[in-house]
Amino acid sequence: MNRPHDTPLPPWPEEQVHEALRKTWGYDTLRPLQAEAIQAGLGGRDSLVVLPTGGGKSLCYQLPPLLAGRTDVVISPLISLMKDQVDGLRAAGYPAAAIHSNCTPEEITEAEQALMAGKLRLIYVAPERLFTTRLPAMLASLPVGAVAIDEAHCISHWGHDFRPEYRKLASLKERLPGAAMHAFTATATPRVREDIAHQLGLRDPALLVGIFDRPNLVYRVVPKVDSRAQVAQVLLRHGGEAAIVYCISRKETESLALALGRRGIQAEAYHAGLEPEERRRIQDAFSEERLDVVVATVAFGMGIDRSNVRCVVHSGIPKSLEHYQQESGRAGRDGLAAECVLLYSAADAFKWRSLIERSTAEAEDPQAAMESSVQLLRHVENYARGLRCRHKALSEYFGQSLEADACGACDVCLGEVEGVEDGTVTAQKLLSNVYRAGRPFGITYLAEVLAGGDTEQVRRWGHQELSTYGLLKGTPRSQIVNWYYQLLEQDLLGREGGDRPTLSLNSASMEVLKGGRQVQLLRAAAKAPRRAKIDREGWEGVDRGLFDHLRELRRDIADQLDVPAYIVFGDATLRTMAAERPATLPEMLAIKGIGERKLERFGQQFLDAIDSYAEDPELPEELPEAD
Ligand code: ADP
Ligand code: ZN
Repeated sequence: MNRPHDTPLPPWPEEQVHEALRKTWGYDTLRPLQAEAIQAGLGGRDSLVVLPTGGGKSLCYQLPPLLAGRTDVVISPLISLMKDQVDGLRAAGYPAAAIHSNCTPEEITEAEQALMAGKLRLIYVAPERLFTTRLPAMLASLPVGAVAIDEAHCISHWGHDFRPEYRKLASLKERLPGAAMHAFTATATPRVREDIAHQLGLRDPALLVGIFDRPNLVYRVVPKVDSRAQVAQVLLRHGGEAAIVYCISRKETESLALALGRRGIQAEAYHAGLEPEERRRIQDAFSEERLDVVVATVAFGMGIDRSNVRCVVHSGIPKSLEHYQQESGRAGRDGLAAECVLLYSAADAFKWRSLIERSTAEAEDPQAAMESSVQLLRHVENYARGLRCRHKALSEYFGQSLEADACGACDVCLGEVEGVEDGTVTAQKLLSNVYRAGRPFGITYLAEVLAGGDTEQVRRWGHQELSTYGLLKGTPRSQIVNWYYQLLEQDLLGREGGDRPTLSLNSASMEVLKGGRQVQLLRAAAKAPRRAKIDREGWEGVDRGLFDHLRELRRDIADQLDVPAYIVFGDATLRTMAAERPATLPEMLAIKGIGERKLERFGQQFLDAIDSYAEDPELPEELPEAD
């Protein structure tokens, strides 16, 4: 029965929620807004929950049916994600099943029987299954408590990932009138949020919007000069740790993976053009920690549940900040420090524009589709070229402001982005080049002239004769281009045209040229990156050798059980073990992330590993005496 939303919620004592949390998940505390979302779930009130990737949305729909002893439905667009979640829940003794197109008929029958017998607390369903099979009739005959819709932004064409099959979910309210509806998404600007609530027909939903900032992520933007070498450099900082490298095209993933291999970094390419078995193999190897580096297109990620990804590199820019938030958000889901590096070049933005042109040509309204895509891309460029705190810039994009002055976790706040010593003189060179050229030219070409390039275009215009020709010889062109953009941002130059602007001087440019105005320009990535404080803190007191030792045990167990490694224990839990060295089961139970069920299954093995590691006489206690 549906509870009218204005009757008071039944009192769900907090202790019960916490007990379930401890027992099944091994967590002591709830993350921000989880309590509110769980209360809405228990009280049968519709909700729209917007939490960033890694914010812990799944717990919000997993816990209520377990506590209330009822069956809830989860709609999810991604089969691999469903599979991982069901595996994870089952490992913790939680009765759940999934029905999607990759299930065998036997698996479906088994799931349906369990469902009808009331044995399941959660059933995961792919959206298309809800309308085409016998499942809808089954669900309608059951007292389904709630329907949770994951990745709910897919219902809105204002979002960045519209899926037509999601539109049909609008009729769920009528089909399952007794069930409350809970929409979950990681990325929703206010417009998308309203659209979700409207399309799903949510009634007086609890609107729970989390904080988007991910303080444990260290953001860096680096002008792209030599992507292979730059990506390799970042990955070498994370030897033995999990990393994802995102590329724009399939071809790039393959060539980059090869290039990394030649540099001694074992990496596999992943994209939608691979055979399904090959994709599965790579995903499994990555989640079971047999493979650490994947070079991929955006096809990789949604279903990947490896919580200890320590680094996400974008070798080309993403096409929206929503994508960036989601892709970079795959780093550090265990709450420990992780690094996100974006290699930026204006050329990538052009590449995207032509891809967008082609892909929107078939849209219902190509012009509107094109405009909204270009707008999304422009925000990425502003982010990359901007010299403001990255955490602030990202938060503001999602409509939230950050108070702190220096985050301590981005290249700008860590002081890695360095000023050019003679910024004004450099600016004068850049501007005078625009003046000498005699008519408006694009940025790439102007940079070519300053760099002293010997191209056909330069010769055609006779620009090797200009006094500014080769004035910045030796400076990478990408740096010169970047400086022009910095001048544009400070309104020290005029521009014409949208995507490939041509430059002209304005009154502010004249002031600079006449020496009446000082200019600051920044040189990016001149300094070697420092380790952020949050990164150092995450290792405090941890015996690294023991941590690696425990990781090996975890990998073996995950291998045997054929589940992702994090399902055994997360990195944060392993680090605590390696710092505190529990010697008994009760001591182990006190560690965050270890519930009774997991203690029972794995506790003794880990105690033994800690014990044997301590006894391992690898290093002599004292140095042998010299004679
Ligand atoms: P989302 O779906 O919002 O991206 P998940 O539900 O996958 O995030 O959760 C991200 C990670 O955080 C998972 O490893 C999950 O087990 C962990 N997690 C969720 N809630 C808590 C909590 N209250 N305490 C500790 N870890 C949590
Ligand atoms: Zn910052």
